[in-house]
Amino acid sequence: MRRKTRAVHVKNRTIGGDAPVSIQSMTNRPARDFAGTIEQIQSLVAAGCEIVRIAVPDTETAAVFSRAREAGITVPLVADIHFDYRIALEAVRHGADKIRINPGNIGSPDRVRAVADACRNAGVPIRIGVNGGSLEKSLLEKYGGPTAEALAESALCQAEMLENMGFHDIVISIKSSRVDTMIHACRKVAAQSDYPLHLGVTEAGTEYSGIIKNAMGIGALLCDGIGDTIRVTLTADPAAEVRAAKEILAAAEVRKNGISIISCPTCGRTKIDLIAITEAYREAISCIDTGDKTITAAIMGCAVNGPGEAREADFGVAGGDGCAILFRHGEKVRRIDEDKLLEVLMEETRRMLENCTI
Ligand code: SF4
Repeated sequence: MRRKTRAVHVKNRTIGGDAPVSIQSMTNRPARDFAGTIEQIQSLVAAGCEIVRIAVPDTETAAVFSRAREAGITVPLVADIHFDYRIALEAVRHGADKIRINPGNIGSPDRVRAVADACRNAGVPIRIGVNGGSLEKSLLEKYGGPTAEALAESALCQAEMLENMGFHDIVISIKSSRVDTMIHACRKVAAQSDYPLHLGVTEAGTEYSGIIKNAMGIGALLCDGIGDTIRVTLTADPAAEVRAAKEILAAAEVRKNGISIISCPTCGRTKIDLIAITEAYREAISCIDTGDKTITAAIMGCAVNGPGEAREADFGVAGGDGCAILFRHGEKVRRIDEDKLLEVLMEETRRMLENCTI
């Protein structure tokens, strides 16, 4: 069962409460390149990103938010701020929809209060972003390092500081490059508060290993019912983060929309180029908007075991020798040539999603 959390509104999207777990990513163009950043926001949205974060290293760059709005961007935009509270104030003034800070590195309580007041007046929530690299010295000494206990304590203390300033629209993230630390720290905060949690494994590495680490950390928590928004952090094109996030949410069965692919691992019975066909189909469906519909397609190597093993699929193909069988819900429909496989898979997909945009 999903953990009950307070609902925090970020422009036209809600984090926590009953809202679906949302997908976030971050632009990586220099934010001063306003046109390039806006273009990247648009491509992230096209890939399925629902909240976009932008690093704001100085007050001049904060204008990226008003420029994005002028360009017609409607997705919620988050300002990522470190150290200088004046940048946060400027970002709010320019229309940022959420501020991500680590109050511990913003400076004196007066400065944190100035950010909290500006956010409250603008109806903008704050994400407290804690990670091992920016943990308070006192906690590092108390716990002997950036342990799960230290990270959780830091996040809850910072949240308490904001609450004492009358600020309550708080989201918490606790990130670590260590999967077990991130999981245990998030579980601790989840057990002691109702703050919505933003999940992610930070500095997770390149695409392949990074997806594995994030799937482990985010996936374990989602299966516990913990997590309200996610960002898969990869040393890769941010669009890859969005694709991975969608797969993690689908695998954890917390988001029901989309096209799920069942494909067999191949074996000595496989006589079609199943790996290439599956990859081509995955690529072809990557930009399909399924609305709130969910379908499952199967691509199996042989007719001996394929239709049976993929019985739960809405439709699928099972390979033969230079050909395949099309089946729907485990029942054989007709024989098709191998070179028509992708075409038939797409036809079946369209048939299932009649009213969706392909
Ligand atoms: S579906 Fe057929 S080809 Fe694929 S792994 Fe199973 S037995 Fe092998």
